[in-house]
Amino acid sequence: GPRVVIVGAGIVGCALADELTARGWTRVTVLDQGEPVRTGGSTSHAPGLVFQTTGHPTMTRFARATATKYGALRIDGRACFRPVGGLEVAATRERLTDLRRRHGWATAAGIESHLLDPGECAALHPLIDRDVVLGGLHIPSDGLAVPLGAAEAQARAATARGATFRHGVRVTGVDVRGGRVRGVETSEGPVAADVVVSAAGMWGPLLGAMAGVGVPLSPMAHQYAWTTPLRELDVLQKLRGLVDPGGAVLPMLRHQDADLYFREHGDRLGVGAYGHRAMPADPTGLDRSGPDRGEMPSERAFTELDFEPSWAAAQALLPALGDAKVERGVNGLFSFTPDGLPLLGETSVAGFWLAEAVWITHSAGVAQAVASWMVDGVPSLPALDGSGAADPVDVSAAHHDRFDPAVLAPSTVRSRACTAFDEVYDIAHPQGLSTSSRPLRTGPFDARHRELGAVVAERDGWAVPAWFADNADLPEVCEVRPRREWAGRHWSPVAGAEALVVRRAVALVDLTSAHRLEITGAGALGLLQQLATVDLDRPVGSRTRALCLDGAGRIRADLDVARLGPERFTVAVGTRLEARWIDEHVLGDVSVRDVSAGTCALGVWGPASGVLLSRLTDPVARRRGTATATVADTHVGPVPALALRGTPIGVDGVELRTSADLGAALWDVLWDAGATLGVVAAGARAVTSLAVESGLRTLGSGVDASLTPAEAGLGHLVDPAKGPFLGREAALTATTPSRRLVTLALDDPGEVVVGDEPVLAGDDCVGRVAVAEASATEDVSLALAVVPAGLAEPGTALSVEYFGRRLPGRVVDREVR
Ligand code: FAD
Repeated sequence: GPRVVIVGAGIVGCALADELTARGWTRVTVLDQGEPVRTGGSTSHAPGLVFQTTGHPTMTRFARATATKYGALRIDGRACFRPVGGLEVAATRERLTDLRRRHGWATAAGIESHLLDPGECAALHPLIDRDVVLGGLHIPSDGLAVPLGAAEAQARAATARGATFRHGVRVTGVDVRGGRVRGVETSEGPVAADVVVSAAGMWGPLLGAMAGVGVPLSPMAHQYAWTTPLRELDVLQKLRGLVDPGGAVLPMLRHQDADLYFREHGDRLGVGAYGHRAMPADPTGLDRSGPDRGEMPSERAFTELDFEPSWAAAQALLPALGDAKVERGVNGLFSFTPDGLPLLGETSVAGFWLAEAVWITHSAGVAQAVASWMVDGVPSLPALDGSGAADPVDVSAAHHDRFDPAVLAPSTVRSRACTAFDEVYDIAHPQGLSTSSRPLRTGPFDARHRELGAVVAERDGWAVPAWFADNADLPEVCEVRPRREWAGRHWSPVAGAEALVVRRAVALVDLTSAHRLEITGAGALGLLQQLATVDLDRPVGSRTRALCLDGAGRIRADLDVARLGPERFTVAVGTRLEARWIDEHVLGDVSVRDVSAGTCALGVWGPASGVLLSRLTDPVARRRGTATATVADTHVGPVPALALRGTPIGVDGVELRTSADLGAALWDVLWDAGATLGVVAAGARAVTSLAVESGLRTLGSGVDASLTPAEAGLGHLVDPAKGPFLGREAALTATTPSRRLVTLALDDPGEVVVGDEPVLAGDDCVGRVAVAEASATEDVSLALAVVPAGLAEPGTALSVEYFGRRLPGRVVDREVR
């Protein structure tokens, strides 16, 4: 294997060294500026609670992998993980309902969990005042990791396979030549390497800067305190027969309504708080000492005043704390990113990787995914059946390059990290709307959207209209079924009405937030042919959908390709990571330019779109045929635009693209000419519903990067007759998959789910809802989920668990596009 340097011997660096050496990459050197084991980083004082369940399937998989690995790990005969279980309690109705949703998430991830009443909560954790709680969720396999023990055990395993750990060595520079990493400079001289991984935790931005790579995280202080000894706890431990002084008899406890968590430390409790003000720290000031500093760089002096409200809430939940005091506390620092998820993957500097902003909870799973990504090119986790097989995992949500550069100013990163901190224990709705009134990025239609009362969500800094308040007067609103509770939040029947207008008349749909790439140069066709699953050597003026696969045949991009010249293409993709996938494969004379920000795109969708456009196109162009060509330069009234005929949702229409300066004029001319046709603006929620009802499966909307085309039902987008392309062999050999993405229709069209709910066959969980929406046109409630192939036949009865209820449904046979 290559020579690898890992910067940082916290739990992430140690876990990664273990996983890399286990995969045969044994020439690993781990460098840390701190002392052995207790380096002074965040791992040094993490209490190590591992609550596995989140609404994010990949993060839950990382957590489960971590609990599994640490559960079997020992150091000097001592366990590195104690499966004491996790108990989350609800003190509000809202939270009680949310615990049912969390129960569903656990089930969908294959984690056993139980909903408890207040009496059962108090039986499990007798320090709880049962009158304060309304109920709880118990997850028996959650537990306490021993962070330094687990780190050291993994470091020893790596050392036994040949890795070297060097402490007291500070990395001062990253040697980059010709776009590739060559090694690091250190306080003890240079160290040559073929691959460098920054596992430097909250020092990440400094390491990144040494290589010229932005690392969007902010160190944030988080308060953790130890109580004085508690008699009640001592009695309980004796009663329950605790022998191991480092052990615990109570489950870990989370009281999220008060932003608190608790664990045992001998006869004391540790109390963690997220309720205090956000306290970001400057990454450049981490190592300087001062009166506000603790004994380690990752510590700030405990600010008692900030802790007071948390302490009062802790005493209210646990009356045994009434006589106790806070004996000591710490404002401990660790990393927060703008969305709270890690930063993983290889950077734009070849061979320079990041594994940062990772909790103890996810550390081993992350290390397994990153190590397999480095060694085999495909991130994967060990299969849970214990077979040792590698199970691919979609790491898109944790990819370090998922953020648009527009939202990466240090001040933006810091303010969003503060928001992520504030919201750690909040009940988040997956379709939550933007709370900020001023978006960072505004497209040319923005002023028009505002006039129409756009209700917006944020995507990559863009204000994306979800629906338009002005459309509340549409007669179609009355035809849309109302939605209840959770599914009815951040939703309006107006969104359904907009979808109906698309099917019946014509609507304008802002498509600007997609990524538009201009691919030109002598190697443009060659690049696309090397990546695409279908032949793109088609006539100029054609528009083709194609997938890109990785070497294992899994879907990495979903392309909308228009050929504008022999070596000139414009390609639209949904996300930044898809654009990156193309960019990463550029060789030779090809230029890939992302023109999204300087351009705009407007869908004119609906059966009346042809009539509308014919009012605005030049008769000469109509006669020449360019007005009806699939892809052609045209004029819409006075506005020059590229017209791409067709819509992804099975209705007539056209996408118009032009430069940003012409966008407002384009909107206005279409709006005025469409008045007599009843043109309206339609928002993103209408588009999702149209996409789901029309059988559209795209990356990020039902399909994820761990699926193959055959699994995703997109086998028709792979042309076996086409010559070589990346992933071809894998895609063509894996045509009878063991799991499939299916569409379920719920029996009751009035029930709508939102995503991530478990899918059950009888009582067994067989999958998880990937995306769901109700169709206003067909009055049917649909959900897409990956299930075992044996359950994918149309007519198969499956149900969805939704807030503890079973919603029956069945697999339906719908056209897939
Ligand atoms: P670190 O442990 O910080 O390791 C990074 C290492 O990089 C350090 O040792 C540092 O010395 C080294 N380094 C940096 N720059 C250089 C350089 N230039 N040269 C050489 N070496 C360098 N997580 C949970 O999952 N559960 C919890 O209950 C939990 N509780 C927490 C409570 C507190 C009070 C705090 C502060 C954090 C808590 N966390 C918890 C979060 C968790 O501690 C961190 O996410 C995790 O420890 C990060 O591990 P790491 O290896 O990435 O970083």
